[in-house]
Amino acid sequence: MAAQAYQKCINLRCGAEFDRMEVLFECPRCGDLLDVRYPWDRLAVPRKLSDFSKKWAQRNNPLNFSGVWRFAELLPFCEKKYRVTIGEGQTVLQRSDDLAAELGMRPGALYLQYEGLNPSGSFKDNGMTAAYSYAKMVGAAASACASTGNTSASMALYSHSCGLKATVFIGEGKIAFGKLSQAMDYGAYTLQIAGDFDDCMRQVQEVCRKLKIYLVNSLNPFRLEGQKTIMFRILEQLGWETPDWIIVPGGNLGNSSSFGKAFAELAELGLINRIPRLAVINAAGANTLSELVNERGLRWNGGNVDQEMIADYYAELDSRNNRANTIASAIEISRPVNLKKCLRALEVCKGVALAVSDEEILDAKAQIGKYGLGCEPASASTIAGLKHLLADGIVGPDQRVACVLTGHLLKDPNVTVNYHSQMARPFSNPPVQVPNDLDKIISLIKA
Ligand SMILES: *Cc1c(COP(=O)(O)O)cnc(C)c1O
Ligand SMILES: [Zn+2]
Repeated sequence: MAAQAYQKCINLRCGAEFDRMEVLFECPRCGDLLDVRYPWDRLAVPRKLSDFSKKWAQRNNPLNFSGVWRFAELLPFCEKKYRVTIGEGQTVLQRSDDLAAELGMRPGALYLQYEGLNPSGSFKDNGMTAAYSYAKMVGAAASACASTGNTSASMALYSHSCGLKATVFIGEGKIAFGKLSQAMDYGAYTLQIAGDFDDCMRQVQEVCRKLKIYLVNSLNPFRLEGQKTIMFRILEQLGWETPDWIIVPGGNLGNSSSFGKAFAELAELGLINRIPRLAVINAAGANTLSELVNERGLRWNGGNVDQEMIADYYAELDSRNNRANTIASAIEISRPVNLKKCLRALEVCKGVALAVSDEEILDAKAQIGKYGLGCEPASASTIAGLKHLLADGIVGPDQRVACVLTGHLLKDPNVTVNYHSQMARPFSNPPVQVPNDLDKIISLIKA
């Protein structure tokens, strides 16, 4: 690679640029977020997206098998020898006509991008493979993250692939069991902080700054490069056609930000001629994005984000002692670190933000599960959100929609069992009690 990727501050008034080898997770000049940028005109980029199809025929090479590195030309920040893979991104865009019918959509309109099929069971692997390839390139020795669960599971897995130490910061009682079991089993050093995710996020940044530890939260711009490929795979599975809508849960807003960047770059490179619209779904108990966008009119505004409005909002949260609170623990975040990048994604994709209740999330989760995919609560916010968008006429019943199911059903079994066994819910499916008696059993079988 003669021409090199570089880092650039997203704040228009700053715009400082840094070498790709400088390990940063914020702009040293102004403290804002950093982007990875590329001198595209001096890099070898395929002329059309379908050129990527050839890689699949060479999938005996693990880097082509990877659903991330198969698209390496669209995230060319490190040379091939640094790229690590454990087979991430083997995810399938599932057409779901049954669920579409239930939502009043036509057959072929609804697709579910099931990221639960990744090695650690969530979309985070798309980002971690990139974050750890970068770590290998710069020779980092130790890594850390704050996590609601899936980030820690994924980083614990990927840190092994390049021999980095892994330290995880989790909050008190705020982590689903499937996820905690992964961090422990994969050998991560886990610190449980007496606080919530937002507290962990603050502390881990301080610790990484002071001890020069490599931070793998989505503040890390290289991690977000990997997550762009979720969009590339959706296009790939639609025969390189663009859907009308992408729907994604919003937590720390890294995923939505990376999707916006993916489409902005594809359009800039002339590889697509239409950008899909983006819907980012918050939980009602962690609705910073939808509150700021819908109630207070916060916008990207060409890069001049109203920082005061954000600061005032956070001060309000503090004065009310307001803490994020939702059953969807993966999006239980009230100070999303990628807020500004997400605002940019909403502008690029003419996007919308909205919030859904925990009840809506749980019902949607059971509806998704009923047709055999299953997902964790946060992922189901997509279908819960889609119901609102259909009811409000924002998404038409004929439009093609791809919902990103971010995490596997087995991440959070407690929520699923509670829903089905204890609650009188529209889609609950409790086990039927029966004596240990053949005739009685037979009388209950629905053949
Ligand atoms: C991390 C995570 C989210 C939130 O993604 P952000 O990029 O933080 O907005 C949603 N769902 C699942 C399952 C996650 O693990
Ligand atoms: Zn800056």
